Amino acid sequence: MKPTVLESPAEMQRLARSLRAAGTTIGFVPTMGFLHEGHLSLARAARRENGVVVLSIFVNPTQFGPAEDFGAYPRDLEADLSAAESAGVDYVFHPQPADMYPSRQLTWVTVEELTDGLCGASRPGHFRGVTTVVAKLLNLVQPMRAYFGEKDFQQLVVIEQMVRELNFDVAVVRCPLVREPDGLAMSSRNAYLSAAERKAALVLYRALQRAQERVRGGCKDPVRLRREVVECLSGEPLAEIEYAEFVDSRDLQPTGAVDEHARLLLAVRLGDTRLIDNALLKG
Ligand code: AMP
Repeated sequence: MKPTVLESPAEMQRLARSLRAAGTTIGFVPTMGFLHEGHLSLARAARRENGVVVLSIFVNPTQFGPAEDFGAYPRDLEADLSAAESAGVDYVFHPQPADMYPSRQLTWVTVEELTDGLCGASRPGHFRGVTTVVAKLLNLVQPMRAYFGEKDFQQLVVIEQMVRELNFDVAVVRCPLVREPDGLAMSSRNAYLSAAERKAALVLYRALQRAQERVRGGCKDPVRLRREVVECLSGEPLAEIEYAEFVDSRDLQPTGAVDEHARLLLAVRLGDTRLIDNALLKG
């Protein structure tokens, strides 16, 4: 069955209240739409574990910088509704910016420190927009479980911190990163890539794989590994490195040794498109 579309935040909240009163568990998948298999894997996990699945589609203006791609961000509601249906989504919450932000927003949720580095360094205000909209969405949808992908690893850690510290009554469920058959991490922004950039984008996966092989081979020195990763990324002329960092996946701090918690996080620009990727490095 096609999911029911709700546009009004008040209507969404009324529905959530009545579902909860009836004892139905709500699983929630927040997205910006232009759905792909990465999003759908979250929806399927939600389908397995909850009575009702709500997926939101909201390109959130407050998480885009003034020079970023808010206007150009790909949108296709009809295709998204079919994809959501195929994953067993019951309700699609699709509000307009003016309904989510009816007046000038004076209240913001900020997670400190975890948002300073990595994507936060080049996207000032981005995580404040993310945490604020996720807090609003959690209050509207009132889920028992909310599903987030490891694709956006820093975002996931930031949201877990917010949920813990603000005592949101929700379990954050981590879902694995989903890749294209050739290894490129699925992303709505892949639609921006030209044919040449799409080929060049594979350098992120190659760099992750190279690091993984070196760690398996016994190299545990993050400085040396990082040098090799940067060398690999620099070998692709279309790619401009924004960061390549080995961090402890618990607190996102630079890791001194590559142990079982070490994750390699990458951000690379290909033309106007910014891509991120990451992997846990198993020894
Ligand atoms: P977005 O629409 O890009 O804001 O993403 C919505 C949710 O889907 C976030 O929790 C993302 O981490 C997750 N997601 C996006 N791409 C992927 C992917 N390739 N694999 C797993 N999760 C993903």
